[in-house]
Amino acid sequence: MQDELKTVASFSTAVEAHLLSATLEAAGIESVVCDEHTVTMNWMYSNLIGGVRVKVLESDFEDAREILNTDAAPPESAEDIPSTLPACPECGSDEIEFSTDKRGAFVSWLLLGFPIIAPKKNLRCKECNHSWPYR
Ligand SMILES: [Zn+2]
Repeated sequence: MQDELKTVASFSTAVEAHLLSATLEAAGIESVVCDEHTVTMNWMYSNLIGGVRVKVLESDFEDAREILNTDAAPPESAEDIPSTLPACPECGSDEIEFSTDKRGAFVSWLLLGFPIIAPKKNLRCKECNHSWPYR
């Protein structure tokens, strides 16, 4: 049985489409990026043809949507932040905040041509500025 391709999302730029494609790939879902060359060559077509589309097999569609929705959620959602944070190991202060570093993904994308989607979650002490990885 041949699976149909379904559009899971569309973007106005190829970069965003490839970021999603890489995220899906990391989750084991194959995807194709459609129309990127048309859009890159003439961005005005982007609106006409519906942007750069990311398509997946119909059997992967639900999973892909789920990943897309998870990814689109703000990283600091309420359930993500524990009610008690550990104290600073350097100075013992409990003035701690999260700092999420997503720059690594973009740097790797620039250097390697593909993003490593593993935003590091760090804790940072507001008192002494010490930061350390969370979990
Ligand atoms: Zn500290």
